[in-house]
Amino acid sequence: MTYLLQALTERAGEFIRLRRDIHRNPELAFEEHRTAALVADKLEGWGYAVERGVGGTGVVGRLVRGEGSRRLGLRADMDALPIVEASGREWASARAGVMHACGHDGHTAMLLAAARHLAEQGRFSGTLNLVFQPAEEGGGGALRMMDDGLFERYPCDAVFAMHNMPGIPQGHMVMREGAMMASSDYATIVLSGVGGHGAMPHKAVDPLVAAASIVMALQTIVSRNIDPLQPAVVTVGALHAGHANNVIPATATLELTVRALDRDARATLERRIRELVQFQAQSFGVEADIQWRPGYSVLVNSAEETAFAREVAVELLGADRVTLQGEPLTGSEDFAFMLERVPGSYVLIGNDGDPSQAGSSCMVHNPGYDFNDGNIAVGSAYWVLLAERFLPVGTQH
Ligand SMILES: [Zn+2]
Ligand SMILES: [Zn+2]
Repeated sequence: MTYLLQALTERAGEFIRLRRDIHRNPELAFEEHRTAALVADKLEGWGYAVERGVGGTGVVGRLVRGEGSRRLGLRADMDALPIVEASGREWASARAGVMHACGHDGHTAMLLAAARHLAEQGRFSGTLNLVFQPAEEGGGGALRMMDDGLFERYPCDAVFAMHNMPGIPQGHMVMREGAMMASSDYATIVLSGVGGHGAMPHKAVDPLVAAASIVMALQTIVSRNIDPLQPAVVTVGALHAGHANNVIPATATLELTVRALDRDARATLERRIRELVQFQAQSFGVEADIQWRPGYSVLVNSAEETAFAREVAVELLGADRVTLQGEPLTGSEDFAFMLERVPGSYVLIGNDGDPSQAGSSCMVHNPGYDFNDGNIAVGSAYWVLLAERFLPVGTQH
């Protein structure tokens, strides 16, 4: 597959410039107007049927070729983060406090580079749906696009997405069958008692003592209710109660973050948190109000599509540059929602070893982060090969 890598390397310059232009002009969730317009204009210019404004600022480009009946979805995300950039790059953000610190500028550029190659030279038969989504960083842009009829209007037999990742050498890819990214849920718990004088606790109902007990009780969920072989996290990240040493407050508030790598474990965490909070509160005579905010689902890569994604990576890069079954991550990703509807796989591409950086790149969401432009050729070649293998010419499906 060296010819493909070579072809995409030759065309990489244009898309490296584009990536840096997007990097210099980052946009937050659902505000990706410039980026979305840029994407849509390019796709239209290359002959794609383009729909703008899907789920807010999302863009879908469709290209149908030949008689093949299979339909493929490839997803890139376009949003940036509210971070003050400190990368020192020439192409650093021109917008104060907004930064492409997760490499979504690179994801967009890689998919565009593939889109152009596929339009001009792609050997495929079937339907290619390119999905550029808004608001991956907490906004649930994937879900918004789905609520807007993404898969009804653009049915897909499989969907794939790629994320750049520090800690993996550039030019390498990591695959994983099964759960790959954690679910993320949030809870706000307000305990209401009766405030009073600190010297007369028997005349009050103290929510602060109840809160302290609940914080400790919550620690038993992971240790006593979850399979020891299942990763899970319950963190009380904030506890607010009281202002003075001689006043018993009327309320106490707890803020929780909850993560799991298994759908059943996720359900157990919610059930046990609700039970412990309710019954602990009751035992102290305080009222508990729980606001549960479901975040992203567990991201689960399906077996068949992951096997296919691995074959494509090995064909492109060689077995020594592909990790077939990597470790799961406790980060979350809203591509998980797409994978609940359509089988597919989320793959990682290494971001380390940029010649202009010493050693490995820092973690995503760090103010010094930058996408490795060496990935433009590799990542776009991967998308092209995956599309050509998924939508083969001369086969009736
Ligand atoms: Zn991110
Ligand atoms: Zn990201």
